[in-house]
Amino acid sequence: MNIRYAERTADLNGTATREIFKLLSRPEIISFAGGLPASDLLPEKEVAEITESLLSGKDAKRILQYGTSEGFADFRETLVGYVKQVGIDGIDTDNTLVISGGQQGIDLMCKALLDKGDTVLVEQPTYLAVLQILKSYEAKAVGVNANADGLDIDDLEKKIIAHKPKMLYVVPTFSNPTGKTYSRANREKIAEITAKYGVIVLEDDPYGKLRFSGESVNSLKSFAAEDNTVYITSFSKLVSPGLRVGVAVGGKEIIRKLTVCKQGTDLHTSNLSQLIVKRFVEEYLGETVKRSIPVYRKRRDAMTAALDRYMPFFDRTDPEGGLFVFGSLPVSLNAEKLLPKAIEHNVAYIQGSVFFADGGGENTVRLNYSNASAEQIEQGIRALGSLFASYLT
Ligand code: PMP
Repeated sequence: MNIRYAERTADLNGTATREIFKLLSRPEIISFAGGLPASDLLPEKEVAEITESLLSGKDAKRILQYGTSEGFADFRETLVGYVKQVGIDGIDTDNTLVISGGQQGIDLMCKALLDKGDTVLVEQPTYLAVLQILKSYEAKAVGVNANADGLDIDDLEKKIIAHKPKMLYVVPTFSNPTGKTYSRANREKIAEITAKYGVIVLEDDPYGKLRFSGESVNSLKSFAAEDNTVYITSFSKLVSPGLRVGVAVGGKEIIRKLTVCKQGTDLHTSNLSQLIVKRFVEEYLGETVKRSIPVYRKRRDAMTAALDRYMPFFDRTDPEGGLFVFGSLPVSLNAEKLLPKAIEHNVAYIQGSVFFADGGGENTVRLNYSNASAEQIEQGIRALGSLFASYLT
């Protein structure tokens, strides 16, 4: 049958990451392509204990019944306390919406704000799934230049004036794909300029707690004098991505709008997942993060050391946390064309060009270090380095 799909889905492709996953089933492949938290750190014992206790206790009925779209009030209380850690103060539960992962927060913001043809500014490069979500709402992504400090503020202002965007989407802490963190001064400037021009900011913070070195910086939202910023974070990288729990924090009016939009999407986030995460945050999160940090740090260190040793021609970021290193190869190398060769040599990565809203970045590469051991990282980068070097003239 000739299925008549909506036109807006015409150029929606499976994300490059998912397509590549299909090629990676061979066990001998060392994959730097994914973006998953380390499987060996997933807390199955703690989650099993919590689940058992929840389902055999007084919460069983409220877990198995429908819940409210906003999420459980007591969990939202926990979340109000939780976001204080990134400097978000002076809010109450009506400023929060429990979401089914950060991804849903991005989708709901687009659903609530965007009409066909609207423009959204994104960092160049940005989180790939956002580019896909924007297509599904027939909106246009325009890239803003960036530097080691964060967004290029002059370019941000120029593009706000030229494109009159409804929204700016940013991942200011340990970004995907770059692993970079915006400085405090850069956050303050972004807050000032977006408020001046009435642009809504969507601050996506899935990785902020995974800091291995350097000083932590408060959320961009905490620097916003105007109520123009929605902050989203999730428990995917700290507890489990499979539970699908996150939170959106913003002004009461916009949170109400997102709640109505969420009703059409999934009515509410899984009750069981919400209460598992609530208990986990209260009892285990501090310990789990403490346990995870040295493991991730060791892998990051193994990755950066191997890159410096085997790929000195790779101009890379220097992440203080998160899951990714990003960088540029000499311009004569095309990372997309070389990917099948790398897979033949049992190493995988993501070509950076897929993260660029406006095209470009053909010589860039994103490398994930969270799901390989230090030994595998050394071995994989050595193989990649000699492959790339063999194509250098
Ligand atoms: N934002 C960014 C920048 C991400 O990298 C991811 C996950 N890869 C997400 C959002 C979505 O994560 P989740 O829905 O599991 O919170």
